[in-house]
Amino acid sequence: MVKNNGIIEEIKEKLPFDDYFRECYPDNVHRNGMALCPWHNDTNPSLSLKKTHGVCHGSCKNGPKVRSYDLFHLHQKRYDTDFRTAKRELTARAGITEQPKGKESQGRLAGEWVYLTASGEPYHKAVRYNQDDGKKYFKLLR
Ligand SMILES: [Zn+2]
Repeated sequence: MVKNNGIIEEIKEKLPFDDYFRECYPDNVHRNGMALCPWHNDTNPSLSLKKTHGVCHGSCKNGPKVRSYDLFHLHQKRYDTDFRTAKRELTARAGITEQPKGKESQGRLAGEWVYLTASGEPYHKAVRYNQDDGKKYFKLLR
């Protein structure tokens, strides 16, 4: 699932956890990068906000196994949704174009050019895909 992780990493890069947290729970945020933890009934800010994740120093560590939360946990918590939905919504939010199914091997669409004839009629189209391994993939469509 290298492909998936690629997208997930890209989303996290584009949408810092701390910024998104401020947007989701503006009233929870206190000074010094600390916030009231939405994952437990927090009264004294115990969630420290980082760029890539949040860490709960309060009751969360005694309950659920996970006490480090990332962007996807945050979105799922805020909108009460599942991982698939969170991934789709965050992908769109980050402005990343997901490849339609069946085109995975080509990577992400990076550019599109339409060539015109002298009279202005399109005669062929070139598309470029960026693959996760950094390779570029060109294709001419007539
Ligand atoms: Zn907590």
